[in-house]
Amino acid sequence: MKKYELFVKKWYENLEEGKITAVKCNECGTVEFPPVYVCRDCSGTDMEWIEISGNAKILDIMDVKYMSSSISVSEMQGSTGGTSNGVSKEDSRPAVIQLEEGPMLNTRIYGVNSTNKEELWEKLPLDCKAFIVQKDGFKTVGFMYEGEEE
Ligand SMILES: [Zn+2]
Repeated sequence: MKKYELFVKKWYENLEEGKITAVKCNECGTVEFPPVYVCRDCSGTDMEWIEISGNAKILDIMDVKYMSSSISVSEMQGSTGGTSNGVSKEDSRPAVIQLEEGPMLNTRIYGVNSTNKEELWEKLPLDCKAFIVQKDGFKTVGFMYEGEEE
């Protein structure tokens, strides 16, 4: 098995054990998520597995600017008809987040939908939290906006 595949395998094995992990470069201290086996900052290969806190910030919600116009168009056109928006698909949006440990990534953020995304976008950055998503036969990591303290 290739080194990269071993790395990916280890990440999934950690998830099976309930651990969300990243790697930390022992040469420069950079944390990489998703894990990479060569540090993108210094090209070092001395990478150590660390368990992350799961705390993260939403920096951007990707489709707010584009979608706001097209949604109002489709709402006008679709005013006579039904539920064309898939419900489950609307439970998450593409976003840019930053982990407490430093890495930034493009991912989907759950708890943000077409109803609240513009309101939330105005308030960025907002806290979110990593969680383990059970997919068909494997686990992966999702990020959830859990709302604000009222
Ligand atoms: Zn490094």
